[in-house]
Amino acid sequence: MLSLSNRKKVIEQGELSFMEKLYLPVIAKGLGITVKHLFKRKVTIKYPEQKRSFAKIYRGLHVLKRDEQGRENCTACGMCAVACPAEAITMISAERKKGEEHLYREEKYASVYEINMLRCIFCGLCEEACPKDAIYLTDRTVDSEYNRDTFIYGKDKLVEKIDNRIDISQRKIKTEQKLDKLK
Ligand code: SF4
Ligand code: SF4
Repeated sequence: MLSLSNRKKVIEQGELSFMEKLYLPVIAKGLGITVKHLFKRKVTIKYPEQKRSFAKIYRGLHVLKRDEQGRENCTACGMCAVACPAEAITMISAERKKGEEHLYREEKYASVYEINMLRCIFCGLCEEACPKDAIYLTDRTVDSEYNRDTFIYGKDKLVEKIDNRIDISQRKIKTEQKLDKLK
């Protein structure tokens, strides 16, 4: 077929020598490389028994943050969904009712907030777009599952637990530095 790029090269292989036909030298060379690696420091680990620690600014599973009083920060403004290049975020907003001031920081909140982890590319743009300090990526990973539906993470998996806060201070510094550079 005619080459479009014109960079195609035809490689001609010459006649194999007697030693090449034996294959023994190349087998020995290959075994030599294997043996050499036996004495080197291993780069692999026995996952899942052993786990590597991630950097504090690793872009993994998201968290929807609460404020110091335990109220949800998210106001369902939709900025994260608009910024998301993978269209992974959906939400339904609701008005805060009287008596719910201890649950939601502002008058509007996300009654439904979902991220499709199969679509997400963990780029962190949702985090940068959020004006309310509500969403951050963390050093946690998304669990493996057998069913595609289970990769749609709702508020039950995304909102941080009151008694198990997630430290995002390092990511916060990183995001602020990034935004400062853009100014
Ligand atoms: S990390 Fe990127 S792809 Fe994932 S939800 Fe946020 S903006 Fe979308
Ligand atoms: S996470 Fe932030 S950007 Fe997204 S809807 Fe909530 S407040 Fe808006």
